[in-house]
Amino acid sequence: PESKLPDVGTSIFAVMSGLANEQQAINLSQGFPDFNCPEPLMQLVTKYMHEGHNQYAPMPGVLKLREKISLKTDLLYGYLPNPDTEITVTSGATEALFAAIMAVVTPGDEVIVLEPCYDSYAPAIRLSGGTPVYVPLSLPDFSVDWDLVKSRISSRTRLLIINTPHNPTGAVMTKQDMDTLANLLDGTDILLISDEVYEHMVFDGQQHHSALQHPGLRERSFVISSFGKTYHTTGWKIGYAIAPPILTAELRKMHQFLTFCSVTPLQLAIADFMDDQQHYLTLPDFYQAKRDYFCEQLKGSNLEIIPSAGTYFQLAKYDRISDKYDLEYAKQLVHEIGVAAVPVSAFYHDKTDHKLLRFCFAKSENTLKAAADQLKKL
Ligand code: PMP
Ligand code: GLN
Repeated sequence: PESKLPDVGTSIFAVMSGLANEQQAINLSQGFPDFNCPEPLMQLVTKYMHEGHNQYAPMPGVLKLREKISLKTDLLYGYLPNPDTEITVTSGATEALFAAIMAVVTPGDEVIVLEPCYDSYAPAIRLSGGTPVYVPLSLPDFSVDWDLVKSRISSRTRLLIINTPHNPTGAVMTKQDMDTLANLLDGTDILLISDEVYEHMVFDGQQHHSALQHPGLRERSFVISSFGKTYHTTGWKIGYAIAPPILTAELRKMHQFLTFCSVTPLQLAIADFMDDQQHYLTLPDFYQAKRDYFCEQLKGSNLEIIPSAGTYFQLAKYDRISDKYDLEYAKQLVHEIGVAAVPVSAFYHDKTDHKLLRFCFAKSENTLKAAADQLKKL
């Protein structure tokens, strides 16, 4: 049969983690922690399993979890979404993204995507019959050129996707970015997906600016987050989307036929664990310390560190060491020094090579030191 995505291969995250495992390399490629999630959270999961909560959850998500998400959103972003009509629990942010895109993009629509970007956006747009319209982020700091974005808006633009804090660059949008975006979309019927899965990983005293804080953006947005990032549970695949009732109703039509619902005991456990505000309030410091430790260990290496303002990723430029294409270079490093990273070209539709590698620092100090010691040999 004809392929629906003929040019799409295996995701770079699977490729690099597979290679790292095969070569027993230190894996700083795919983004996931090498330490465990909080013990009380695991105990809650087993408690709920033993109590018999092992059947389908309600389609939109366990009510208690949606209520907790609502309260947290109010606390952090000053907006109290209605759990019944505005919050949907999904199987990871990946499902929320897919469902949101499928829900609103129709054949012929254009969707503005800022590059580099997470690899699931474009396939979802294309499978919906839409066309991704790529706008590059501006070097060297990967900021948004809003005039350029404006110039790519057409009568066919249905949706725009932003991601802050940003994977893979670590760039964080400012309040001014959000204001400019709101002005740009004002008076149009363009919808917004704001991918905020790294909302609790913003460093150096900066703040995360959510689309939910901005009335002009909120009314047209799907705001997507993931407990995988916040609770060190990427393998649980529990995320959510917050959107106005009309958009939520459409998203749920997709969600109910993609997965119908997400894992019941995990939702119940997370709902209880959300009472521990300390966990997410201390997450910026927790990850900033890891970023700083990794960068400190890399001092004296020939890699050029690109400042990371958020996420658990650190970019490094290797053009002083090699002029190889980044994918080839990333593979070479696994064999040569036993360290796996993600080549940033994988986040560009045309595989633009800036000689940049992405390292995940959601790792123990031992792992970070071992990786840095190897990288200093380059
Ligand atoms: N968006 C971005 C920007 C991400 O980095 C990730 C995870 N790598 C996701 C979405 C998907 O999150 P989840 O694992 O919850 O599906
Ligand atoms: N979001 C993770 C990353 O950027 C990977 C997610 C995945 O493997 N699909 O590394």
